[in-house]
Amino acid sequence: MAVPRLFVDAPFAPQGRLALDAAQGRYLATVLRLGAGAPLKVFNGVDGEWAARVEDAGRRGVTLVLDAPMRPQTAALDLMLCFSPVKRHGTDLIVEKATELGVRTLRPVIVRRTNSDSVRTDRLRAIAIEAAEQTGRCDLPAVHEALPLVRLLEEWGPERRLLFADEAGDAASLMTVLQTVAPGAPLALLTGPEGGFDPEERRVLRALPFVTPVSLGPRILRAETAVIAALALIQAHWGDWRGGA
Ligand code: SAM
Repeated sequence: MAVPRLFVDAPFAPQGRLALDAAQGRYLATVLRLGAGAPLKVFNGVDGEWAARVEDAGRRGVTLVLDAPMRPQTAALDLMLCFSPVKRHGTDLIVEKATELGVRTLRPVIVRRTNSDSVRTDRLRAIAIEAAEQTGRCDLPAVHEALPLVRLLEEWGPERRLLFADEAGDAASLMTVLQTVAPGAPLALLTGPEGGFDPEERRVLRALPFVTPVSLGPRILRAETAVIAALALIQAHWGDWRGGA
């Protein structure tokens, strides 16, 4: 079994002790059935990844002892995903996959045709943590409270290019547009809900100097598919998939 990896929101220091919360303790002791001495990897989003081991897994809960730092803290590139929530578990999937794909900031955006009435930010944050544990990130994406598109645009920092995934079909391809974006420069992607963006929203977005509409090909993708496909292309041509040979 691979060494379990856990996010623990606490300061790290050599030989430091970490008292896990009840849910994490139950997971380690009952689901993974780890006992004293079992090795783990832990990260807190600030101090990189450390080797740790179970010190005690009794009725009073589970405590870990920190051994030593294994990997330095790294930050994701400045990539933001602005997405309309979608029904059922589509929003969960968007948050999980965006975390795996290295997004630094997640911003749920309410547009006219968004039909999920409430966004549970705490739930999305828990999904992001679980995805970061699995994917090996040492940082956590920031998950913001949902806000209306109008507010998002009012508060926009003009230094950040916003790639507007526009299914209308007349936009330049994402590949073409990515040739015009400096690698690693602050970047954002915006995707819509099941019903897409309404004409007025499209008009407002296309009139903004920091917005570039992009096409994701000739077919209409589900919102979740659009997010995954677009983020993969962005990481491959702008982001941290460009490294290596
Ligand atoms: N209302 C659209 C329709 O049925 O014609 C469907 C919207 S689609 C399910 C959800 C979102 O995914 C869109 O708002 C857009 O952001 C993105 N998307 C899907 N297909 C796309 C494409 N071919 N090009 C650009 N964006 C796309």
